[in-house]
Amino acid sequence: MIALHKFEPLEAAVSLLYPPVCTICGGNVRAGDYLCNQCDAKVVRIAAPFCQKCSVPFEGSITSEFTCANCAHRTIHFDAAVSAYRGRGIVRQIIHEFKYGRQIHLRHLIARWLHAALDDERLRESRFDIIVPVPLHATRLRERGFNQASLLAALLSAQTSIPSKPLLERFRYTTTQTALDRSERMENLHNAFRLRKNADVRGLRVLLIDDVLTTGSTLSECARVLKRARAFSVYAATAARA
Ligand SMILES: [Zn+2]
Ligand SMILES: [Zn+2]
Repeated sequence: MIALHKFEPLEAAVSLLYPPVCTICGGNVRAGDYLCNQCDAKVVRIAAPFCQKCSVPFEGSITSEFTCANCAHRTIHFDAAVSAYRGRGIVRQIIHEFKYGRQIHLRHLIARWLHAALDDERLRESRFDIIVPVPLHATRLRERGFNQASLLAALLSAQTSIPSKPLLERFRYTTTQTALDRSERMENLHNAFRLRKNADVRGLRVLLIDDVLTTGSTLSECARVLKRARAFSVYAATAARA
């Protein structure tokens, strides 16, 4: 595991030596920012109309609430999954750098995108008892050195004062989901998660956290486990919606 506290003084020291630059284009930015104004303007905010269940935006002028084709013909176990940003272009690039390029400091920018999801009325009107990050399998955790969802959950917890606890574990090692279609993903994930020993979620209003929602299968499986353990409600927030 990467000891994050060792990174912080280093980041501070580096920022004194080098003026802050945009992560994408290298242009000048204000201290504490990660993107210049031009790059930040390309970050796509999700606007209505979007699916009430999984937040995928719909191009067109539907005015009533709707559920997308991805959600319509299957059982989805979370109450709603909310993202404020599209996981494309710069957002996708930043999240990729964070997860696979070990650019751990980018978690602060990604956590801002995650926090923006709480503005959505589906989440704004809810009170949450606990934040739960989507777990990584132990093998994947060793490879990567950190769980991106846990880092984001910790930042969100600090901002909202809602406690974050790793109540779930991923006990089946699954191949990467990227090349699989929706039904293959669901099969791949079935029974991949379970509640940690001694975790008790009965009656709790849970906010699940992950970096990106792609088909929603991972979040739905996690929500299924939590609901079976009698969580009162399970909403999800992600930094981006693929
Ligand atoms: Zn830039
Ligand atoms: Zn949907």
